[in-house]
Amino acid sequence: MSVATPNVDQVQQIVREVLQKHLRPSGGATVASGIPILRTGGGSASAISAPTVAPANASRNPLVVNISARHVHLTQEHVEILFGPGAQLSPEKDLYQDGYFAAKETVAVVGPRRRMLPSVRVLGPCRNDSQVELAFTDGISLGIDLPVRISGDVAGTPGCLLMGPHGVVELQQGVIRAMRHVHMGPGDLAHYGVQDGDLVNLRIESPSCTTVLEDLAVRAGKDIKLEVHLDTDEGNAVNLEKATKVELVKSEPCSCRH
Ligand SMILES: [Zn+2]
Repeated sequence: MSVATPNVDQVQQIVREVLQKHLRPSGGATVASGIPILRTGGGSASAISAPTVAPANASRNPLVVNISARHVHLTQEHVEILFGPGAQLSPEKDLYQDGYFAAKETVAVVGPRRRMLPSVRVLGPCRNDSQVELAFTDGISLGIDLPVRISGDVAGTPGCLLMGPHGVVELQQGVIRAMRHVHMGPGDLAHYGVQDGDLVNLRIESPSCTTVLEDLAVRAGKDIKLEVHLDTDEGNAVNLEKATKVELVKSEPCSCRH
C-alpha cells in the first residue's frame, strides 16, 4: 500500500470501487447497508411507540421521540451530479412528518485523509442547500470536528466530499451534528407555552439510564407533528429503545438569578 498522499482522482477511484460493492444499479432498490434510517414511534414494531404515546387532546399529537440516524440533504442540482442528469430522489420510506421521506439513494461521505462513510441515506424532498447530519462518533470516524448546529445553519461549518454512482460533489460547508430538537405545531406551542427557538428539556426514563437532556431547540411549523429528534449517540446514551417514559419539561431559569 502506497504511503503517498492520494490526489482527488485516486480517492474517487477508491471510493468508486467501494461503492460498486455497496450499491446496486439505479432502480435496484436494495438497501444493502441496513443502516437504520429514522426509527418512527408510530409503528407497532418500535420499542418506543407505546411509552411515547401519551394521551393527547384532539388538537395535539402524542409525544414521539425518534432517533435521526446519519443522513444527507441534497439540492436538486447535487442529486443530478451524484445520480445522473434528470435524476430524482425515489422515496423508500415515509418519515413521521408528512411529506418527508427517506430516499432509496445513498451517498458516500468522504472526510479528510480518505476516511469515509460508504452509505449515508439521503432524505427528501430536496432542499436549497446540501447538508450532512452526523453523530459525534461519525465525526470521529471521519476525522471531522463536528459543530452542533440547528439544521440549516451551516455558515462556516466543515465541508466534505459526497460521492454517488454518477459523480462527486465537494461541499465547502454543511457537515454538522444537528442540535437536539423538538418539532412542534401551533397546538403544541400553546400547550407547552413556548415559541420557536426556545429551549426545553427532555426527560427519559429507561432502565439504569434515566436522563434529562437539556437544550432541545423548539422548531415550530404549521403542519408539524410533535416529535423529538435525537441522534444515534444520544439515543444510545439514554437507552431510548428500552425507555418506559418520555416527557418534555420546560427549562426554568435558575432561581438564584445570578
Ligand atoms: Zn428534526
